[in-house]
Amino acid sequence: MRKRILIVGGVAAGASCAARARRLDESAEIVLFERGPHVSFASCGLPYHVGDVIPDEGDLLLVTPGRFRERFDIDVQVRHEVVEIDRAARTVRVRDLGSGAERTERYDALVLATGTSPIRPDVPGVDLPGVFSVRTVPDTRRLRAFIEERGARRAVVVGAGFIGLEVAENLAHRGLSVTIVERAPQVLAPLDVEMACPVQRHLEANGLSIRLEAALTGIEESAGGLRVRTSAGAPIDTDLVVLALGVRPETTLARQAGLAIGPTGGVKVDESLRTDDPHVWAAGDAVETRCVVTGAPRVVALAGPASRQGRVAADVIAGRPARFRGVQGTIVCGLFGLTAASTGLNERALRAAGVPHRAVWLHPSNHVGYYPGAETIHLKLVFDPEEGRILGAQAVGKADVDKRIDVIATAIQMRATVFDLEEAELCYAPQFGAAKDAVNVAGMIAANHLRGDLPLADWDEVGRDDVLLVDVREPGEFAAGHIRGATNVPLSELRDRLEELPRDREILVYCQSGKRSYDAARALAQRGFMVRNLLGGIENIECRHGDWITVDQP
Ligand code: FAD
Repeated sequence: MRKRILIVGGVAAGASCAARARRLDESAEIVLFERGPHVSFASCGLPYHVGDVIPDEGDLLLVTPGRFRERFDIDVQVRHEVVEIDRAARTVRVRDLGSGAERTERYDALVLATGTSPIRPDVPGVDLPGVFSVRTVPDTRRLRAFIEERGARRAVVVGAGFIGLEVAENLAHRGLSVTIVERAPQVLAPLDVEMACPVQRHLEANGLSIRLEAALTGIEESAGGLRVRTSAGAPIDTDLVVLALGVRPETTLARQAGLAIGPTGGVKVDESLRTDDPHVWAAGDAVETRCVVTGAPRVVALAGPASRQGRVAADVIAGRPARFRGVQGTIVCGLFGLTAASTGLNERALRAAGVPHRAVWLHPSNHVGYYPGAETIHLKLVFDPEEGRILGAQAVGKADVDKRIDVIATAIQMRATVFDLEEAELCYAPQFGAAKDAVNVAGMIAANHLRGDLPLADWDEVGRDDVLLVDVREPGEFAAGHIRGATNVPLSELRDRLEELPRDREILVYCQSGKRSYDAARALAQRGFMVRNLLGGIENIECRHGDWITVDQP
């Protein structure tokens, strides 16, 4: 009898598993069940269809069931929901959502690629007409039709994760006035607050209104449309609401079948993506795997890991010794020409996990400044304070941000250290980078610290009475905004004004970006001063402790 591989769910994980399974085994019978109307659709492209950047819905449908049949001899059954697994009999019960008829299907290998279900807030009004989510092609069709038919002018997006922000940007592209409501004190949770801050400013500069620390408490109908209530601030009148509060693994089937669920709520699998049943695999957003950085159980909902997991599951089913290495949560998001990206863990997550770490910030250009069009990249590198292993990185800027994060993401997966970044040989010509690329410089700064050449201070030391805070920028910069209590000794005058500085007290130096303060700290340390560096620059501190900044009165 032919080996029967049944796959439940036909998007990133399911579709890649099916195609790979066929490439490895011509003789198997492969059947894929998808309860929605499409398989292998580009969910990542949905926000851009909302915004008409991708006007044709058909462009989001990457592979049709017919193509799966022709090209791979895979039987794809859309609008078919798998409603039950009988593990003892190795069968599933499938419901045809068109006719309602049910039947039983046998399997030798079963792959659960069921993805996620959206988090629905438990507040009144989320089912009202005019309240949408953006997860499927029919969702975007409904949203687009609503905007067009009602002539919608105002929108509220609930949730400032990357999908919420992409949807907000695209609604703004269509001319809607958009308010984002977010419960957390910042946008884009994968970033630390000082890195999210320039993103927020950019969104606001592009006309979005952002309300932070405001949880959705209800939606009601009002004369002109809908009224959104939040835990902070006045109600917001709008024509439509998009809910983008995040997702959780869709584990209904797995739970019903008694498969193990991990502590983070995803289906528990081993490195070969096998569940605790030797005939059942799980892949994609529905599973819990290991965090590459900490080794702890982790769920991420991203297309890259989902497709790679689908492929690994197919390999293992075909008898190959494939292993999934784990997830690190590498994300990128483009918003009104600004890119924000991150990989690994941020400081907030590392603190929560109790993992010791250090961070450095830098603000290099994407390529040498003398070549036209250079743009600043705000880059943060987080690393282990003993060995220098890279734990995470975040970057924000208008150009080539993704390239830097991709390099560091690869380094993290290889368990590389900041010393490896320092040594990395990367592309360089004037229009592409710099002889010391941003990634090299990040490694150098961190390595300088680990070698003892760059002692770092924490920003929460700023308030201490026993240290002298020295701002080494030029007087004009100092006057425009400095940390309260700081003394201004510009780097350009430092060597002539050494007698003004104490030798019996620690000096904390800072500047605009961390570069001049490094040079100042090196000059002072070699003259016997006790000096440490406040990295990240004034912009960084402004984002975290705006109340610390004072401006000289003219
Ligand atoms: P899914 O894509 O969720 O597919 C699971 C499928 O299983 C669903 O179609 C569901 O109908 C089906 N299913 C579930 N239960 C059953 C059942 N019992 N019977 C039959 N079928 C079932 N990721 C990125 O990396 N980058 C991005 O830019 C990005 N943008 C995104 C934008 C949007 C708007 C959305 C919604 C997601 C985005 N993602 C992005 C996330 C990415 O799309 C997902 O990580 C990826 O699709 C996960 O693939 P999956 O196969 O695990 O699950």
